Amino acid sequence: MLVAGNWKMNTDVPEGRALADAIAEDLSSASSDLGNVDVLVCPSHVHLPAVLDALADTPVTVGAQDMHAEDEGAYTGDVSAPMLTSIGCDAVILGHSERRKYYDETDAEVNAKVKQARAHGLVPIVCVGETLEQRKAGEADTVVQNQVDGALSGVSIDGPDDLVVAYEPIWAIGTGESAEPEQAQEMHAVIRDDLAGRYGGDVADEVPLLYGGSMKPHNAYGLLSQPDIDGGLIGSASLAAESFLGIAEKAVEVLAASED
Ligand code: PEP
Repeated sequence: MLVAGNWKMNTDVPEGRALADAIAEDLSSASSDLGNVDVLVCPSHVHLPAVLDALADTPVTVGAQDMHAEDEGAYTGDVSAPMLTSIGCDAVILGHSERRKYYDETDAEVNAKVKQARAHGLVPIVCVGETLEQRKAGEADTVVQNQVDGALSGVSIDGPDDLVVAYEPIWAIGTGESAEPEQAQEMHAVIRDDLAGRYGGDVADEVPLLYGGSMKPHNAYGLLSQPDIDGGLIGSASLAAESFLGIAEKAVEVLAASED
Protein backbone atom coordinates (compact mmCIF):
# COMPACT_ATOMS: atom_id res chain seq x y z
CA MET A 1 0.00 0.00 0.00
CA LEU A 2 1.32 3.46 -0.90
CA VAL A 3 0.09 6.78 0.45
CA ALA A 4 1.52 9.68 -1.55
CA GLY A 5 1.05 13.39 -0.95
CA ASN A 6 0.95 15.93 -3.76
CA TRP A 7 1.56 19.30 -2.18
CA LYS A 8 1.07 21.11 -5.50
CA MET A 9 2.05 24.82 -5.37
CA ASN A 10 1.33 25.19 -1.68
CA THR A 11 3.29 26.42 1.34
CA ASP A 12 6.41 28.54 1.30
CA VAL A 13 9.64 26.73 2.14
CA PRO A 14 9.63 27.32 5.93
CA GLU A 15 5.98 26.16 6.03
CA GLY A 16 6.84 23.10 3.93
CA ARG A 17 9.77 22.32 6.19
CA ALA A 18 7.48 22.61 9.23
CA LEU A 19 4.99 20.23 7.58
CA ALA A 20 7.74 17.69 6.87
CA ASP A 21 9.03 18.10 10.45
CA ALA A 22 5.52 17.47 11.77
CA ILE A 23 5.26 14.29 9.68
CA ALA A 24 8.65 13.13 10.97
CA GLU A 25 7.68 13.92 14.55
CA ASP A 26 4.36 12.06 14.34
CA LEU A 27 6.11 9.03 12.87
CA SER A 28 8.70 8.99 15.64
CA SER A 29 6.03 8.61 18.33
CA ALA A 30 5.79 5.18 19.91
CA SER A 31 2.22 4.61 18.76
CA SER A 32 3.05 5.17 15.11
CA ASP A 33 3.75 2.10 13.03
CA LEU A 34 3.30 2.25 9.28
CA GLY A 35 3.85 -1.48 8.86
CA ASN A 36 3.75 -2.28 5.16
CA VAL A 37 2.40 1.12 4.17
CA ASP A 38 4.84 3.20 2.15
CA VAL A 39 4.56 6.96 2.48
CA LEU A 40 5.82 9.45 -0.10
CA VAL A 41 5.58 13.22 -0.24
CA CYS A 42 5.89 15.30 -3.41
CA PRO A 43 6.48 18.98 -2.64
CA SER A 44 7.47 21.64 -5.18
CA HIS A 45 10.98 21.51 -6.63
CA VAL A 46 12.02 24.44 -4.46
CA HIS A 47 11.05 22.56 -1.30
CA LEU A 48 12.84 19.33 -2.13
CA PRO A 49 16.19 19.84 -0.30
CA ALA A 50 14.52 21.00 2.93
CA VAL A 51 11.92 18.24 2.84
CA LEU A 52 14.51 15.56 2.04
CA ASP A 53 16.54 16.79 5.00
CA ALA A 54 13.55 16.83 7.35
CA LEU A 55 12.51 13.29 6.42
CA ALA A 56 16.00 11.79 6.14
CA ASP A 57 15.69 9.67 9.29
CA THR A 58 12.16 8.49 8.56
CA PRO A 59 10.76 5.81 6.24
CA VAL A 60 9.06 8.54 4.18
CA THR A 61 10.41 8.95 0.65
CA VAL A 62 10.33 12.11 -1.41
CA GLY A 63 9.33 12.71 -5.01
CA ALA A 64 8.85 15.61 -7.40
CA GLN A 65 5.70 16.85 -9.09
CA ASP A 66 6.99 17.00 -12.65
CA MET A 67 10.20 17.14 -14.65
CA HIS A 68 11.50 17.67 -18.18
CA ALA A 69 12.01 14.77 -20.59
CA GLU A 70 15.59 15.79 -21.48
CA ASP A 71 18.73 15.40 -19.34
CA GLU A 72 19.82 19.02 -19.76
CA GLY A 73 19.69 21.97 -22.09
CA ALA A 74 18.14 25.33 -22.83
CA TYR A 75 14.79 24.79 -21.10
CA THR A 76 14.42 27.83 -18.91
CA GLY A 77 12.51 27.14 -15.74
CA ASP A 78 12.59 23.37 -16.05
CA VAL A 79 14.01 20.64 -13.84
CA SER A 80 15.65 17.43 -15.10
CA ALA A 81 15.66 13.83 -13.89
CA PRO A 82 19.41 13.96 -13.09
CA MET A 83 18.78 17.04 -10.93
CA LEU A 84 16.11 15.15 -9.00
CA THR A 85 18.12 11.98 -8.51
CA SER A 86 21.23 13.96 -7.53
CA ILE A 87 19.46 15.21 -4.39
CA GLY A 88 17.79 11.92 -3.49
CA CYS A 89 14.33 11.96 -5.06
CA ASP A 90 12.77 8.56 -5.61
CA ALA A 91 9.69 9.29 -7.69
CA VAL A 92 8.02 11.85 -9.91
CA ILE A 93 4.37 12.59 -10.58
CA LEU A 94 3.75 12.75 -14.33
CA GLY A 95 0.72 13.67 -16.42
CA HIS A 96 -1.28 15.18 -13.57
CA SER A 97 -4.56 16.55 -14.90
CA GLU A 98 -3.54 20.06 -13.84
CA ARG A 99 -0.50 19.85 -16.11
CA ARG A 100 -2.60 18.41 -18.92
CA LYS A 101 -5.14 21.23 -18.46
CA TYR A 102 -2.99 24.29 -17.75
CA TYR A 103 0.11 23.37 -19.79
CA ASP A 104 -1.57 21.35 -22.55
CA GLU A 105 0.58 18.37 -21.70
CA THR A 106 -0.11 15.57 -24.19
CA ASP A 107 0.07 11.79 -23.81
CA ALA A 108 3.18 11.85 -26.04
CA GLU A 109 4.90 14.28 -23.66
CA VAL A 110 3.88 12.21 -20.66
CA ASN A 111 5.26 9.14 -22.44
CA ALA A 112 8.63 10.83 -23.04
CA LYS A 113 8.80 11.82 -19.37
CA VAL A 114 7.89 8.30 -18.22
CA LYS A 115 10.74 6.90 -20.33
CA GLN A 116 13.09 9.51 -18.90
CA ALA A 117 12.05 8.69 -15.32
CA ARG A 118 12.61 4.98 -15.95
CA ALA A 119 15.99 5.66 -17.53
CA HIS A 120 17.09 7.50 -14.38
CA GLY A 121 15.60 5.17 -11.78
CA LEU A 122 12.79 7.46 -10.72
CA VAL A 123 9.43 5.78 -10.16
CA PRO A 124 6.94 7.44 -12.51
CA ILE A 125 3.55 8.07 -10.92
CA VAL A 126 1.40 8.35 -14.00
CA CYS A 127 -1.87 10.20 -13.46
CA VAL A 128 -4.93 9.44 -15.57
CA GLY A 129 -8.58 10.40 -15.24
CA GLU A 130 -11.67 11.56 -17.04
CA THR A 131 -13.69 14.78 -16.86
CA LEU A 132 -17.29 14.79 -15.65
CA GLU A 133 -18.49 15.37 -19.22
CA GLN A 134 -16.54 12.36 -20.44
CA ARG A 135 -18.00 10.22 -17.65
CA LYS A 136 -21.54 11.39 -18.38
CA ALA A 137 -20.99 10.59 -22.06
CA GLY A 138 -19.96 7.02 -21.17
CA GLU A 139 -16.42 7.66 -22.36
CA ALA A 140 -14.57 7.32 -19.05
CA ASP A 141 -13.08 3.86 -19.65
CA THR A 142 -11.87 4.72 -23.15
CA VAL A 143 -10.38 8.05 -22.07
CA VAL A 144 -8.48 6.43 -19.22
CA GLN A 145 -7.31 3.45 -21.29
CA ASN A 146 -6.05 5.83 -23.97
CA GLN A 147 -4.14 7.84 -21.37
CA VAL A 148 -2.60 4.67 -19.91
CA ASP A 149 -1.68 3.38 -23.37
CA GLY A 150 -0.31 6.76 -24.43
CA ALA A 151 1.82 7.15 -21.31
CA LEU A 152 3.22 3.62 -21.45
CA SER A 153 3.82 3.11 -25.14
CA GLY A 154 7.27 1.52 -25.52
CA VAL A 155 7.86 1.51 -21.75
CA SER A 156 9.11 -1.74 -20.22
CA ILE A 157 8.04 -2.60 -16.70
CA ASP A 158 9.29 -5.58 -14.73
CA GLY A 159 7.85 -5.12 -11.27
CA PRO A 160 6.28 -2.97 -8.58
CA ASP A 161 9.17 -0.53 -8.32
CA ASP A 162 9.00 0.50 -11.97
CA LEU A 163 5.63 2.19 -12.20
CA VAL A 164 2.72 3.59 -10.21
CA VAL A 165 -0.55 4.56 -11.88
CA ALA A 166 -2.87 7.02 -10.17
CA TYR A 167 -6.52 7.10 -11.24
CA GLU A 168 -7.70 10.62 -10.52
CA PRO A 169 -11.16 11.43 -11.87
CA ILE A 170 -10.90 15.14 -12.62
CA TRP A 171 -14.35 15.80 -11.18
CA ALA A 172 -13.15 14.50 -7.80
CA ILE A 173 -9.90 16.48 -7.56
CA GLY A 174 -10.09 19.33 -5.07
CA THR A 175 -13.90 19.24 -5.07
CA GLY A 176 -14.45 17.40 -1.81
CA GLU A 177 -16.50 14.92 -3.84
CA SER A 178 -14.65 11.63 -3.95
CA ALA A 179 -15.59 8.81 -6.29
CA GLU A 180 -17.62 6.08 -4.64
CA PRO A 181 -15.36 3.16 -3.68
CA GLU A 182 -17.12 0.81 -6.14
CA GLN A 183 -16.89 3.40 -8.91
CA ALA A 184 -13.16 3.83 -8.32
CA GLN A 185 -12.69 0.05 -8.10
CA GLU A 186 -14.36 -0.41 -11.51
CA MET A 187 -11.87 1.92 -13.15
CA HIS A 188 -8.94 0.39 -11.31
CA ALA A 189 -9.98 -3.01 -12.65
CA VAL A 190 -10.03 -1.53 -16.17
CA ILE A 191 -6.51 -0.15 -15.66
CA ARG A 192 -5.28 -3.44 -14.19
CA ASP A 193 -6.65 -5.31 -17.24
CA ASP A 194 -4.97 -2.87 -19.55
CA LEU A 195 -1.65 -3.35 -17.75
CA ALA A 196 -2.11 -7.13 -17.87
CA GLY A 197 -2.54 -6.96 -21.64
CA ARG A 198 0.64 -4.94 -21.91
CA TYR A 199 2.91 -6.56 -19.29
CA GLY A 200 1.23 -9.83 -18.31
CA GLY A 201 -0.97 -10.55 -15.31
CA ASP A 202 1.81 -11.12 -12.79
CA VAL A 203 3.46 -7.75 -13.40
CA ALA A 204 0.08 -5.98 -13.65
CA ASP A 205 -0.94 -7.37 -10.26
CA GLU A 206 2.17 -5.88 -8.68
CA VAL A 207 1.94 -2.34 -10.11
CA PRO A 208 0.51 -0.09 -7.38
CA LEU A 209 -2.71 1.59 -8.53
CA LEU A 210 -3.54 4.66 -6.48
CA TYR A 211 -6.85 6.46 -6.25
CA GLY A 212 -6.72 10.26 -6.12
CA GLY A 213 -9.53 12.77 -5.74
CA SER A 214 -10.67 14.18 -2.39
CA MET A 215 -9.37 11.23 -0.37
CA LYS A 216 -9.57 12.16 3.33
CA PRO A 217 -9.27 10.20 6.57
CA HIS A 218 -13.08 9.75 6.70
CA ASN A 219 -13.43 8.14 3.26
CA ALA A 220 -10.01 6.49 2.92
CA TYR A 221 -10.92 3.14 4.48
CA GLY A 222 -13.73 2.41 2.01
CA LEU A 223 -11.60 3.36 -0.97
CA LEU A 224 -8.46 1.56 0.19
CA SER A 225 -10.37 -1.65 0.95
CA GLN A 226 -11.22 -2.15 -2.72
CA PRO A 227 -9.29 -5.05 -4.25
CA ASP A 228 -7.58 -3.03 -6.98
CA ILE A 229 -6.90 0.13 -4.98
CA ASP A 230 -3.36 -0.07 -3.62
CA GLY A 231 -3.11 3.36 -2.08
CA GLY A 232 -3.92 7.02 -2.52
CA LEU A 233 -2.56 10.14 -4.15
CA ILE A 234 -3.59 12.87 -1.77
CA GLY A 235 -3.81 16.58 -2.55
CA SER A 236 -5.31 18.91 0.01
CA ALA A 237 -5.34 16.38 2.86
CA SER A 238 -1.57 15.99 2.46
CA LEU A 239 -1.05 19.59 3.60
CA ALA A 240 -1.51 18.74 7.27
CA ALA A 241 0.41 15.96 9.02
CA GLU A 242 -2.69 14.88 10.93
CA SER A 243 -4.92 14.29 7.90
CA PHE A 244 -2.11 12.89 5.74
CA LEU A 245 -0.96 10.40 8.35
CA GLY A 246 -4.60 9.79 9.26
CA ILE A 247 -5.00 8.37 5.75
CA ALA A 248 -1.82 6.31 6.16
CA GLU A 249 -3.32 4.90 9.40
CA LYS A 250 -6.42 3.85 7.47
CA ALA A 251 -4.16 2.05 5.02
CA VAL A 252 -2.51 0.25 7.94
CA GLU A 253 -5.98 -0.76 9.19
CA VAL A 254 -7.02 -2.04 5.75
CA LEU A 255 -3.89 -4.16 5.51
CA ALA A 256 -4.40 -5.50 9.04
CA ALA A 257 -8.02 -6.43 8.23
CA SER A 258 -6.97 -8.21 5.05
CA GLU A 259 -4.54 -10.34 7.04
CA ASP A 260 -7.21 -11.49 9.51
C1 PEP B 1 -4.56 15.57 -6.67
O1 PEP B 1 -4.69 16.61 -7.32
O2 PEP B 1 -3.63 14.78 -6.94
C2 PEP B 1 -5.56 15.30 -5.64
C3 PEP B 1 -5.86 14.06 -5.39
O3 PEP B 1 -6.10 16.38 -4.99
P1 PEP B 1 -7.23 16.36 -3.82
O4 PEP B 1 -6.88 15.25 -2.87
O5 PEP B 1 -7.15 17.70 -3.21
O6 PEP B 1 -8.53 16.10 -4.51
